[in-house]
Amino acid sequence: MTRGFYVGRFQPYHKGHHNVIDEISDSLNELVIGIGSADKSHTRRNPFTAGERYVMISRAVEELDITTHIVPIEDIDRNAIWVSHVQSLCPPFDIAISNNPLVIQLFQDTDVEVREGPIFDRSRYQGTRIRELMIQQEKWEHLVPDPTVEAIHEVGGVTRLRQVVESDDFNGQRE
Ligand code: NAD
Repeated sequence: MTRGFYVGRFQPYHKGHHNVIDEISDSLNELVIGIGSADKSHTRRNPFTAGERYVMISRAVEELDITTHIVPIEDIDRNAIWVSHVQSLCPPFDIAISNNPLVIQLFQDTDVEVREGPIFDRSRYQGTRIRELMIQQEKWEHLVPDPTVEAIHEVGGVTRLRQVVESDDFNGQRE
């Protein structure tokens, strides 16, 4: 039995993430999905709460043929102990899958097996780009699974993101 671990901020959960999970599912029995930066929301980079991201992901993975466990994970100040922090919150896992260089390095440094995942059209499926399309009032819905569209509409997520950006601009902030 092999249980994998895949972490992301999922701001929002998009088709790139979904295709990765679908593809890596073939070689795993179970997958722990870590919702990173669970303490962050209502910012330009992290507009959605951990609970909102939980809804996006849990509804989307229902169609996939794998058992998943979704665990919100708050950020901590010290990168050197982040892997222990993750392990203290999650069901035990055998392998981590990531394309984030810092995440890969932290797992390697703590001798946890880590594998790079496949990449799906990163120029299209990228959280920063999708959030920018929302801000510019352009079409973004085709870049995410339907449950993400529903979850964002349910909470007025696009309006929230635009308000956060307006507020940041008003206060002279960019992040
Ligand atoms: P993300 O949502 O941007 O990406 C999640 C994963 O999906 C990454 O591996 C990324 O490479 C991959 N991905 C994105 N687009 C893709 C595409 N089109 N095709 C295939 N793969 C794609 O999230 P992230 O920022 O990488 O998440 C890492 C999380 O870990 C963050 O929440 C970060 O804060 C957290 N973290 C925290 C600490 C700490 O607290 N000290 C340390 C390290 C990491």
